[in-house]
Order: sequence, then C-alpha cells, then structure tokens
Amino acid sequence: MTREEVVVDVDVLVAGTGASGMSAAVTAAAHGLQVLVVDKAALFGGTTARSGGWLWIPGTRLATAQGIEEPPGAAKTYLAHETTTHFDAKRVDAFLENGPKAIDFFTGNTCVQFDMPTLFPDYHAEAPGGQQGGRSMVTRPFDGRELGARIRQLAPPLP
Ligand SMILES: Cc1cc2nc3c(=O)[nH]c(=O)nc-3n(C[C@H](O)[C@H](O)[C@H](O)COP(=O)(O)OP(=O)(O)OC[C@H]3O[C@@H](n4cnc5c(N)ncnc54)[C@H](O)[C@@H]3O)c2cc1C
Repeated sequence: MTREEVVVDVDVLVAGTGASGMSAAVTAAAHGLQVLVVDKAALFGGTTARSGGWLWIPGTRLATAQGIEEPPGAAKTYLAHETTTHFDAKRVDAFLENGPKAIDFFTGNTCVQFDMPTLFPDYHAEAPGGQQGGRSMVTRPFDGRELGARIRQLAPPLP
C-alpha cells in the first residue's frame, strides 16, 4: 500500500477533537485564522463525546441572569480548599477571569448554549467558599441532524 503525501498550509493545527481541541479550533477560526483539526481516532469527539457535558464556572452571565451573585473571593477560597497542595493561584486566577468570557464567547458566537439550574450545589457546598448554585451549567442538547453525514463520524455517547 502506498501512502499519498498531502501538504496542507494552515495558521493553526489542532491535535484532538475533544472539548479542549474543538474550543481552540472554533476560537481561532472566529478570529479569522485558518484551522485544521486532526485526531488519531477514527471517530471525533474524544472522551468529551461521552461526557455528561456539565461545566463548572463561577461568575458567568447565566448566574447573574438568575440573580445569583458570586461572593467576592468565594470561588478562589473553594478551589484552594478543594485542591489543597495542588492549588495554583496563577492558574486559578486565569480560570476565574477567563471562564465567564469563554461562556460569553460560545453563547454569543456559536450554537453552543448552556442551561443552569438555579439549585445545583457544588460537590462540597458546605466547604469554605462552596455555593448552592450558580456555578454548574450543562450544555444544551444539539440536534445532531445539523451535522448531516458527519454524524456518522462522531463518537457515540455511552449506551
Ligand atoms: C462518563 C464521563 C462523564 C463525564 N462527565 C463530565 C462532566 O459532566 N463535566 C466535566 O467537566 N467533565 C466530565 N468528564 C470528564 C471530561 O469528559 C474530560 O475531562 C474532557 O472530555 C477532556 O477533554 P479533552 O478535550 O481534554 O480530551 P478528549 O475529549 O479526550 O479529547 C482528546 C482527543 O485527542 C485525541 N488525541 C490524543 N492524542 C492525539 C494525537 N497524538 N494526535 C491526534 N489526536 C490525538 C484523542 O483521540 C481524543 O479525540 C466525564 C468523563 C466521562 C468518561
């Protein structure tokens, strides 16, 4: 069997079609860059395709729309408590600052939308900085028919 060599010139090459890779690809494309996404698996979607689709991001517009205000510093306190010796203040600050912006980007520029139940406690809501709601949201169902024939290349969810 001979292998045909194909040369493709792009601005951004993304390896992996899970949430992280696809998010990077969509963001780059929205900024006008030419993107190629590749995956080593036969089907795209990675672990993400069979995940529950829940996101944990404090301080988003979805929370404030429901009148849930993030108490100042609470999310950082919670993450410090939960991660103990793994706590990385710089990464946590970057996550807390940019997480809500990422949600705004997706809801404003793509068909990816999210729903937030008013009551959805943190896993340890009683811990310092823990909350009863306003941080967890789930990706809204998407009509797979919009993918056309591509749906056959999408990794299936867990049975
Ligand atoms: C049953 C289940 C439920 C879950 N529910 C949730 C949830 O509700 N909320 C939550 O936050 N997390 C959840 N998770 C965890 C979450 O799914 C993962 O943390 C997340 O999907 C990881 O995304 P990712 O893009 O980093 O990796 P992946 O989605 O795994 O994507 C990585 C992709 O990269 C490809 N790849 C790897 N190496 C290469 C290479 N060298 N070249 C090309 N491609 C490559 C892989 O084939 C794969 O397609 C759940 C996990 C499971 C299993």
